[in-house]
Amino acid sequence: MLEIHIIKALTDNYIYLLRNKEKNITSVIDPGDSKPVINFLNDKGWKLDQIINTHHHHDHIGGNSELLNIYKSKLIAPSYDKERILNADIYASDNEEISIAGINTKVIFTPGHTLGHICLYMEEEKCLFSGDTLFYLGCGRVFEGTMKQMWQSLLKLRSLPDETMVYCGHEYTMSNANFCNYIDPNNKLFKKVYSKIKENTEKSLPSIPFKLGTDKQTNPFLRADQLEFLKSINMEGTDPVNVFEAIRLQKNNF
Ligand code: ZN
Ligand code: FE
Repeated sequence: MLEIHIIKALTDNYIYLLRNKEKNITSVIDPGDSKPVINFLNDKGWKLDQIINTHHHHDHIGGNSELLNIYKSKLIAPSYDKERILNADIYASDNEEISIAGINTKVIFTPGHTLGHICLYMEEEKCLFSGDTLFYLGCGRVFEGTMKQMWQSLLKLRSLPDETMVYCGHEYTMSNANFCNYIDPNNKLFKKVYSKIKENTEKSLPSIPFKLGTDKQTNPFLRADQLEFLKSINMEGTDPVNVFEAIRLQKNNF
């Protein structure tokens, strides 16, 4: 059984500390800062075997070098980022099966936010680490790729099973929820989700993880090809890429 520990870092980043007790393997995903990870590991008396980065942004790799120095961990980075994340032991490519914390993990290439971004899917654990591609009720900004690339990346994630629990790179949920409330106010399922999010936010609890199946029905960025949603935003008959672009640009300025 895999333990997933959520570590808050920087302003609103999440670092995920994975612990496989049976195999005695500890891994970290996207250590944007080393200190909270070191504190956590010291507290538990664990060493760090692996570091995995979803993409090259500093708030996801900033803790790499210090952690590598201390623990001599193995580093796994996206194959596209060879020149931007140096000295990785494994450069992971699309569809590749890798082992993270002793668990079989499928690498899903999701360009858009950055050109090399990868997500990590563990079928047996029913979980997805989505970095800055998919957020709860939202998605990452499109910095390096095209809108079409980002939409296609989101479609790949949407094709995963409904019961998948998603662990994303940032706590942007409240801001995303406010945008949903604005763009899709009559979505009944969203209203249920929203009250739970509000409750957690008031207690400063993470909104993570979230269920992919629910997000498929509530996240506007996963619904750019769904008739019911298109009707409600008066974009019926519009190409999904153009719909996605329109709502992404709206959210950027929201
Ligand atoms: Zn990023
Ligand atoms: Fe980020």
